[in-house]
Amino acid sequence: MSRVLVIGCGGVASVAIHKICQVSEVFSDLCIASRTVSKCDKLADELKGKTSTNITTAKVDADNTDEVIALINEFKPDVVLNVALPYQDLTIMDACLACKVPYVDTANYECEDTDNPEWRKVYEERCKRLGFTAYFDYSWQWAYREKYKEAGITALLGTGFDPGVTSVFTAYAQKHYFDEIHTIDILDCNGGDHGYPFATNFNPEINLREVSAPGSYWEDGHWVEIPAMSIKREYNFEGVGMKDMYLLHHEEIEALAANIPHVKRIRFFMTFGQSYLTHMKCLENVGMLRTDPVEFNGQEIVPIQFLKALLPDPASLGPRTVGKTNIGCIFTGIKDGKEKKVYIYNVCDHQECYREVGSQAISYTTGVPAMIGTMLVAKGLWNKPGVFTTDEFDPDPYMDALNKYGLPWVVDENPVLVD
Ligand code: NDP
Repeated sequence: MSRVLVIGCGGVASVAIHKICQVSEVFSDLCIASRTVSKCDKLADELKGKTSTNITTAKVDADNTDEVIALINEFKPDVVLNVALPYQDLTIMDACLACKVPYVDTANYECEDTDNPEWRKVYEERCKRLGFTAYFDYSWQWAYREKYKEAGITALLGTGFDPGVTSVFTAYAQKHYFDEIHTIDILDCNGGDHGYPFATNFNPEINLREVSAPGSYWEDGHWVEIPAMSIKREYNFEGVGMKDMYLLHHEEIEALAANIPHVKRIRFFMTFGQSYLTHMKCLENVGMLRTDPVEFNGQEIVPIQFLKALLPDPASLGPRTVGKTNIGCIFTGIKDGKEKKVYIYNVCDHQECYREVGSQAISYTTGVPAMIGTMLVAKGLWNKPGVFTTDEFDPDPYMDALNKYGLPWVVDENPVLVD
């Protein structure tokens, strides 16, 4: 029986917390902690009586390591799940290290103010070293490897769907289907419709920053960078149909390039509708995606934060989103000397998710893997000292758990490849 501290109480956290409460045989005690404690209390009230997991709540500013340390010392968790924002990754990792408690998250570290001159200096040096434009990358968190190893605790990074499940699919394909994987195409399709002209399915700040950044892919041992949204393909997705998709930089490429031997090319594609792209371009052109403070009526505001306040809260999209997501990976390579291709994917229905946990499928496909990763760490099945991504453990228990907890997957051994 384990005690879990969940930090953050937004769209993804809400699903992870519902799922934790469905697995009371593993999670005996749960503390939901966030900046706005009223949200934690509301969710705890909804769940009480429906689970035998004991639930408490707490207020914490996770930008402040000492506050997180104090909370860990008070609640004494066996594992901490960070489903706040990527901005808090390092402060929470520091707190877990100080208290020697395992750490789990769903997205790699980003700096909140990317126009901050001090951060830009470090960022520009890093881009030069890595050879690609990376607002977000693993180097900040991989820098904790030795410290976590010495402390004898696990940090499991990026256990959402992508990153997360996509890397588990890769480890599973490597273990069961290939001697050598040569190419990986990660395809993230959201065929859902929420009826708004423009809204993001997860935190708008993080989402818009990811999408407006230059794209990149891994080929023959190095990064190839392209202007944002400049490579477009079409794909016919099971359960969704034909969709336009665009090549983006994505964090799991970096980990897979380091960990999958023989891989020659890794790309990541995400589908977008024309309305989303047009709105995003306009917002970018007028400066609404800026992350640095500007003065307005004698007050400082950060345009992207102001935009977030205007846009629909992703957590509120559940009741009105219809359609399906289809996320997975197409692999090509060699098995027993013969060429082979395999597509592993999950199809998830927005309204089925809503009926089960009150959220749309983007939060669901992230929150369920967040619970699964946390559960495997808590049970000691995915437990080794150091900092790891999800492709670095035995994929089998994770794949079994996906089937059991709401994200069943399909293996297609004759998929259509992306051009
Ligand atoms: P939301 O904006 O809905 O929720 C974020 C939560 O974090 C809110 O409860 C917020 O509190 C809280 N928070 C923010 N800052 C702090 C702080 N300083 N201290 C304590 N709590 C804080 O985001 P999502 O649920 O959409 O996303 C959560 C995470 O999931 C993000 O890291 C995102 O990148 C990741 N993600 C990963 C995916 C994957 O597949 N791997 C896909 C989608 C998302 P408040 O209410 O007070 O603002």
